[in-house]
Amino acid sequence: MADRYLHFTGTAPGRFLTRRLGLPRPVALRRWSPGAPALDGPLLHLTAGDSGVTERLGSLLAATGLSVRAHAERPAGIVLDATAVDTPGGLAHVHSALHPVVRSLAPGGRVVVLGVRPSADDHHQAAAQQALEGFVRSLGKEIGRGATVQLLRIAPEGVDAAESTLRFLLSPRSAYVSGQVIELTAAAPGPVADWAAPLAGRTALVTGAGRGIGASVASVLARDGARVLCLDVPAAHDELAATAERIGATALPLDITADDAAERIADAAPDGLDVLVHNAGITRDRRLANMPAERWAPVIEVNLDSVLRTTDALLKSGTLNRGGRIVATASIAGIAGNNGQTNYAASKAGIVGLVRSLAPRAAADHGITVNAVAPGFIETRMTAAVPLLVREAGRRMNSLAQGGLPVDVAETTAWFAQPGSAAVNGQVVRVCGQSLLGA
Ligand code: NAD
Repeated sequence: MADRYLHFTGTAPGRFLTRRLGLPRPVALRRWSPGAPALDGPLLHLTAGDSGVTERLGSLLAATGLSVRAHAERPAGIVLDATAVDTPGGLAHVHSALHPVVRSLAPGGRVVVLGVRPSADDHHQAAAQQALEGFVRSLGKEIGRGATVQLLRIAPEGVDAAESTLRFLLSPRSAYVSGQVIELTAAAPGPVADWAAPLAGRTALVTGAGRGIGASVASVLARDGARVLCLDVPAAHDELAATAERIGATALPLDITADDAAERIADAAPDGLDVLVHNAGITRDRRLANMPAERWAPVIEVNLDSVLRTTDALLKSGTLNRGGRIVATASIAGIAGNNGQTNYAASKAGIVGLVRSLAPRAAADHGITVNAVAPGFIETRMTAAVPLLVREAGRRMNSLAQGGLPVDVAETTAWFAQPGSAAVNGQVVRVCGQSLLGA
């Protein structure tokens, strides 16, 4: 369903009217395309206070191929290193660094504030670093013109581990990700021979890949070099076969809730899996008072139970290779809750619990990371079926004032999936344009 309002606000009368009436003014977002630069201009590298990582961060940013400067009239990206800020007084450096330049940021620009984890032993440092979260989330809401703002907490001893994440956040791949706090470990990144095909030589399985977000995930993983297995229910066979053929993948018609699902997946991937994407999901909306068990059970079964079961079985059988990546699908409904979705929100909040608990153990035992995407309003068949007024509200109630595209969820998944993303573990990243729901 085309976003006609977004199109209208891009015209001269649209700009005039929305400004006069104080209506949301979404800007068409640029997505990644081959050959196009990651940023439409220079990247400003700023520092708040005396950072100990300036030099290493400088070389890492230079390695991305972006045009990194200490001064620029019209930057397309800003990285502010605030890792040294450890007192409320130190926050003044954050203000003095960004205040003069934020207005000159190009449309669709990127701001990444680098911080560190708030300390458990030093409450002054913890206060100052936590302050950055409120700062970033507020700047994301006010910056406008399609720009995004994130807080990236790094482990100072593991600056290099941040490369895949900085490349993602400083590019159109993260067009619909804003207001996020992402915390990295110091885990050494796996080797990336070619940033244009970071998944070369890897095998990925995507559930629910016949259509919608799953089809886009499969396509982006294939674009990034992976050999892809597309799984969907046998009833979706034709759609699944068409998707698989279009992207050069293998179709695996299988209901993920089947008792032998993990065995069938293992049989289909004799060399093991490097990337497992749990995307299949269903809704059976009804308010709790009107919800019979028949509408409760399948949602928990497909969205959560089968994810737990297949993950456990594939880890146990060794089908998931060392250095592998598990990406699950939550939802902002699982974070904020939603009217008529007690079953769905419970299942998606369960995914968040799974990720947080399993991530450290999977990394320690198998070198495997576990993360989740939490989509907001994404333009799919599912959201096209939502009544007009609710749909319009869903589209506009976020900092970017528009719905996201399946490719936005896919790009986030592909970043998690990269060998270079070993330090990204236990994260739930919302792909929601900084939705006002559960912000
Ligand atoms: P969709 O309904 O278009 O696609 C889901 C796919 O999963 C379908 O192809 C379906 O056949 C498949 N599937 C369902 N049950 C299955 C099973 N038992 N075994 C195998 N495959 C099965 O949905 P979508 O909008 O593309 O959503 C994809 C994921 O993203 C879901 O987990 C959904 O909950 C989540 N999500 C979507 C949005 C959104 O705005 N579209 C928002 C938040 C979260």
